[in-house]
Amino acid sequence: KLHNTILELKGNIRVFCRVRPLLPDDSSGTEGKVIYFPTSMETLGRGIDLMQSGQKHCFTFDRVFMTDASQEDVFVEISQLVQSALDGYKVCIFAYGQTGSGKTYTMMGRPGLPDQKGLIPRSLEQVFQTKQSLQAQGWKYEMQVSMLEIYNETIRDLLSTNRDPSRTENGSIAGKQYGIKHDVNGNTHVSDLTVVDVCSAREVSYLLDQAAHCRSVGKTQMNEQSSRSHFVFTMRISGVNESTEQQVQGVLNLIDLAGSERLSKSGSTGDRLKETQAINKSLSSLSDVIFALAKKDDYVPFRNSKLTYLLQPCLGGDSKTLMFVNLSPDPSSVGESLCSLRFAARVN
Ligand code: ADP
Ligand code: MG
Repeated sequence: KLHNTILELKGNIRVFCRVRPLLPDDSSGTEGKVIYFPTSMETLGRGIDLMQSGQKHCFTFDRVFMTDASQEDVFVEISQLVQSALDGYKVCIFAYGQTGSGKTYTMMGRPGLPDQKGLIPRSLEQVFQTKQSLQAQGWKYEMQVSMLEIYNETIRDLLSTNRDPSRTENGSIAGKQYGIKHDVNGNTHVSDLTVVDVCSAREVSYLLDQAAHCRSVGKTQMNEQSSRSHFVFTMRISGVNESTEQQVQGVLNLIDLAGSERLSKSGSTGDRLKETQAINKSLSSLSDVIFALAKKDDYVPFRNSKLTYLLQPCLGGDSKTLMFVNLSPDPSSVGESLCSLRFAARVN
């Protein structure tokens, strides 16, 4: 009974936790194993315990994926959510965690390794397969994608073919405004943003490569920007049933957030400080928004960051939100892992 009450309170917000396996590069810290999976029936598959300096912290989520969970295991749990975008829902899936915790692996996977494809390519395959199979029932779908990055509260179009050398230091194109507007139908318009009509998963994967290239070009110019910026993939799905004239308008937003690591105790100054403050601001705004929605507060502070304002129509209402909390099992990351779990437990 209690379980139901909590689910009701949370509405359409779910939180999944995923711990990546230990990698050869991880420090062989002296603290030993710090992350445990409780095995009691009550929290089976949903609980995670973390040991820090001899103290145990226990958390439960909608689902916890252990180090051995495959990309397929994870996708099985979200495919229903992807399906709902074709049914006309607005869906947001976020990956949250410190740099190196597995956000990009969860979202994109490893390039060139089909069994390690992440949830973006898997979602695309599912969307286009379903589109195909729904044709028999009279459904015609049209899809459009856009890909952008938010860095220092500035939007950068990742599909712009405009290789304008007047790109400014922060990566935005000089003169472009990228103003965000929401219309009465709950659609978001970002002025000057490239929106591409797409008919196949292959086409989108080509665009994803283009976006990744655009990000990596930025990276050398703007030192390691990709982990310091939010990546937002958006697919708009419009469907019309030719026999019943029923119409649906869904949106699938897949977001690889900037690294959540805190400022190192001292020494951050200048650009780095500004950057970290922008990330902290947008991640805490995201947490504030999701928490306000979960509590069904009258006031939801969408306008406090670009990210939450951009996604406003896709958060709350009858839209569906899933947050992945990615964790590193490395003992040296235990402090950051605890912060991530606390961030998510608040959301949860
Ligand atoms: P982030 O995007 O959070 O900075 P990455 O996704 O780049 O982190 O992951 C860091 C490293 O860990 C990469 O080398 C990635 O391939 C690897 N990795 C992450 N998650 C897994 C996983 N579940 N299984 C195997 N390797 C993983
Ligand atoms: Mg990453």
